[in-house]
Amino acid sequence: MDIQKLLRPHLIGLKPYVSARSEYSGEGILLDANENALGAVSGGDFTRYPDPLQQQLKSKIVNWLDADLSNENIFCGNGSDEIIELIVRAFCEPAQDAIMVFPPVFSMYEKCAQINNVGIQRVNLMPSFQLDLEAIKAAITPQTKVIFVCTPNNPSGNLIHFEDIKILLDSFDGVFVIDEAYIDFTKGKSAIYEIDKYPNLLVLRTFSKAWGMAALRLGFAIGSKEMIHCLNAMKMPYNVNVYTQDLALKAFENLAMFENNIDLLNVERNELEKQISWLEFVKKVYPSNANYLLVKFEDAQAVYEYLIKEQIVVRDRSYLPHCEGCLRITVGSPEENKALLGALKNFKSV
Ligand SMILES: *Cc1c(COP(=O)(O)O)cnc(C)c1O
Repeated sequence: MDIQKLLRPHLIGLKPYVSARSEYSGEGILLDANENALGAVSGGDFTRYPDPLQQQLKSKIVNWLDADLSNENIFCGNGSDEIIELIVRAFCEPAQDAIMVFPPVFSMYEKCAQINNVGIQRVNLMPSFQLDLEAIKAAITPQTKVIFVCTPNNPSGNLIHFEDIKILLDSFDGVFVIDEAYIDFTKGKSAIYEIDKYPNLLVLRTFSKAWGMAALRLGFAIGSKEMIHCLNAMKMPYNVNVYTQDLALKAFENLAMFENNIDLLNVERNELEKQISWLEFVKKVYPSNANYLLVKFEDAQAVYEYLIKEQIVVRDRSYLPHCEGCLRITVGSPEENKALLGALKNFKSV
């Protein structure tokens, strides 16, 4: 499969921007990038442009992923949101091509398509929140350039059956994106081990959820070298700032906290799931593999407004397919979860 052929025609052969620091990265008196050697007015060590390819950070990521990958299989972005937008812009010709999504799902894929005047093909998940393979196959057209699958799925929380994803992957020769923003919370099978088999596959990860670093804006994609090269050619040279790169390196020194927080959030989620399901005005709590719960209420609007009055903010997802009456509740700290449960238990008496 020639990945270059998947690009929008005018981008075929595009080369990455050559920055001063990528032409020469050695030591010496650096008078090549019009930086200001007198120092950062903000304080801190910020006078020099950061490594445009984030090689140190990528080495850590590769090491941590423990798969057969190299730095050239990794792309770092200013959040995975940036990567989603780059993918749409690289592969979808405006007013011609389309992305395919499976609602209810994370809305950023659609948002990026809309901004770029790219079509949106929607095939709802089944009520089980699994892929409707027959309907998907029937809906794919020559315009379908990028497919987005989210697993664990946001907002439903379930893992998408890996065998179903494989069936789709085997039958699609456009760009196939698997968003694993929440995979760290599960023992679910990651698609990163399929990269060598599918050069058109991109797997998305983020530091915003399990790593607790949402404000630093760091996401990454894992893919074939050809696929990653396409994204490198598209990106702005210094898309991940030096502060973020440094702190992400530090995070890898603190993996015990990463693991402990995941364990704690999973315990808290399971407890919340149980306790919420006992409330009589709750119709259903969907089982979750992530750090949130989708909950179906008899009167979601009333619960939402009541919680706002209690200064607890959850997400109304009731207008999405199969999500009628549903709120999405993020698992918070133990104190926050206790406050949520306390408030919900008082709901009836209001
Ligand atoms: C939160 C979320 C992201 C966003 O990640 P950033 O790295 O913060 O941009 C991506 N995908 C899904 C499904 C998410 O829920």
